[in-house]
Amino acid sequence: MQKLAIVGGGVSGLSLAYYLQNDYEITVFEKENWGGKAYTQKIDNYLMEEGVNGFLSNSPKTLELCEEIGIKPIKANENAKKRFIFDDKLIEIPTKPLDFIKSDIMSFNGKLRLLKEFFVKPKCEEESVEEFATRRLGKEFTQKMMVPMLAGIYASTPSKTSMSAAFPKLKKIECEYGSLFKGMIKLKRGGQPTGELHSFEYGMSQFIEQLKSKTKANFVNEEIKDISQLNGFDKVVLAVPSYEAAKILKRYEKLSKLLRQIDYNPVAIVGFDYEEIKPIGFGILSIKEKSLGILMDKYIFPNRNGIRVMVGGARYPNIKNLSEDKIIEIAKKDVEKMTNAKNPKFSWIKMHKNAIPNYSLGHQKLIEEIFDEAKKIDIILAGNAYKGVSFNDCIKNSFELAKELKNEKIVN
Ligand SMILES: Cc1cc2nc3c(=O)[nH]c(=O)nc-3n(C[C@H](O)[C@H](O)[C@H](O)COP(=O)(O)OP(=O)(O)OC[C@H]3O[C@@H](n4cnc5c(N)ncnc54)[C@H](O)[C@@H]3O)c2cc1C
Repeated sequence: MQKLAIVGGGVSGLSLAYYLQNDYEITVFEKENWGGKAYTQKIDNYLMEEGVNGFLSNSPKTLELCEEIGIKPIKANENAKKRFIFDDKLIEIPTKPLDFIKSDIMSFNGKLRLLKEFFVKPKCEEESVEEFATRRLGKEFTQKMMVPMLAGIYASTPSKTSMSAAFPKLKKIECEYGSLFKGMIKLKRGGQPTGELHSFEYGMSQFIEQLKSKTKANFVNEEIKDISQLNGFDKVVLAVPSYEAAKILKRYEKLSKLLRQIDYNPVAIVGFDYEEIKPIGFGILSIKEKSLGILMDKYIFPNRNGIRVMVGGARYPNIKNLSEDKIIEIAKKDVEKMTNAKNPKFSWIKMHKNAIPNYSLGHQKLIEEIFDEAKKIDIILAGNAYKGVSFNDCIKNSFELAKELKNEKIVN
């Protein structure tokens, strides 16, 4: 059997090892925590997720993997359907078209502008989310809806994000149907996410531990600093953030330089608990605060018992230079502003200086160049820096990579 080294024990590296366990003799190297950004801390009676909160049930590969390894995901309760935006006041995000028309989430003129979408010509070329959304749906929609959405998913801003890299399905609908609304009517799709939020009873680490226990591989806690450490292997997969891959591959100057072009946004996760905090729901996304949003974990999943605040992102990158105490102060003030809750009885923080890759303008072209260069030296790249940041994307991409490595046809 050929020897395969997988560097990076996050969900990308571990699911790849699982899918290939019968085809290679595998060693997985991890420098910190197994699970990477999918890691749960238990402090007293609180479960605090350092990163991933959960995943949507609209990606069959994740659910199939759960079944194969014998773990049952739990569905977020009904509270998760209530989502809020903070725009100087709390506004519940309407889920039905009629509620949207009645809500004060946007002005009358802003809502009227949405109707023009049917008649805006498609533009099938690279552009930012800001350009796309303003062109198709108007400035107010971009400001009130896309700014919080980009903060919540990518910790980024519409102007810094490539539409085709971050929302490839929407860009495709525009090009195929000439309009988003026309396409959604034909496809019988609304603007809401198509899956339901799931996690695990004891957090994301429960899934990671189960996945490891069902995978035949050598799990080694070691940092790989240079590719020469892996000389004894037939194949190498780097399932690490792209800036880490750049360090490991520093002797390949061109590839290393390309990898360093992928920017990462910093995010601090601050956990709190209060005697009383409202609203009861999934959480709140903000439009201009340094805290991008609040996740009301305790209202949607069992055992969590606290809430978490995401601070920083591309909106406030200076977060990475502040002390933990200062960041907790910022988060505390923002929670008070958005919910009126004061004096938390518990607080906790996890700083990710490089939390999430930013899919900037030209991302897809850059990825093509990176993959071409990597192929020349027979190195395989995996992980969330390239073709999707969600937990679901990571599993689906590892499944497809495993098929390629087994020389099987990729089935979409
Ligand atoms: C704060 C936050 C919240 C998120 N929330 C969600 C969410 O709710 N839902 C969702 O779908 N997605 C979410 N995401 C995105 C999702 O977590 C990630 O995209 C996914 O977990 C990334 O997995 P990965 O294996 O590709 O990378 P990582 O999890 O980053 O794993 C890479 C691993 O490689 C290790 N490593 C790095 N360098 C080396 C080296 N030199 N040698 C050995 N090991 C090394 C690291 O320690 C790490 O464990 C969130 C991300 C963050 C940061």
